Parts: sequence; structure tokens; C-alpha cells
Amino acid sequence: MLHSGRTWGVSPCLNNDELARKLSDHTWTLCVAFETTRGTIWANDSTGPDGAQEFGVIRRMGDHWRQVETVTVGWCQPDRLRTIIDEADAGEFDHGHDFGPVSSDRLERQHETCPHCA
Ligand SMILES: [Zn+2]
Repeated sequence: MLHSGRTWGVSPCLNNDELARKLSDHTWTLCVAFETTRGTIWANDSTGPDGAQEFGVIRRMGDHWRQVETVTVGWCQPDRLRTIIDEADAGEFDHGHDFGPVSSDRLERQHETCPHCA
């Protein structure tokens, strides 16, 4: 389940290889999220900058968003992560786990500075 109370600034990422590198190579601020060209949102669900980075996988289901998977990206090689990103885009996680709904209010296209990125 994604951290309650957290909102994310969602940026498009147009290339899944680039996204795999970004997720596996960097420690991101906790309010960072990326959206693939096929509409999957990867939102930082880590508890802090220390330890392995975790991202929640958020997919649009009809008129709302749901978290369908959580991935410890810090433990993944970019090649493996690229495969997982493609699987998420293909909807392969849509009917597996259901971590619950995510309000669209928490997925901000225009992100104001919050305590995580201040
Ligand atoms: Zn922020």
C-alpha cells in the first residue's frame, strides 16, 4: 500500500530503457513518479533515502487508478527492470495483487513543493 498522505509529481518518461536506468541507478525524492507512454505510473514508495528504493506500480482501471504491484527497484538490474516495466505496461499485473485505489488527487501533473522535496 502506498504511503498515505504522500502526493507525487508525475513526469512523463517516453522511453522504457531510460526509465529502467532511472529507477535502478538513482535515489529519488519520495514524491517522484514517472508515467510511461502506455500510461503506467511508477511512484516512489520508499520510506526514505536510505535502503533499497521501492516503487509502486499504478494503473488506470476505467475511471480510477489502482496500485497493482510494488517493486524493489534498488535490487533490480536495469535489464530485468525493463522487462518488469514492459509487463506492467502490457497489463500483466492488473489482475494479480490489488493494493487498493489511488486517488487521482495524489498524482499531480503540477507538483507544488512538499515536505519531501523542500
Ligand atoms: Zn514534493
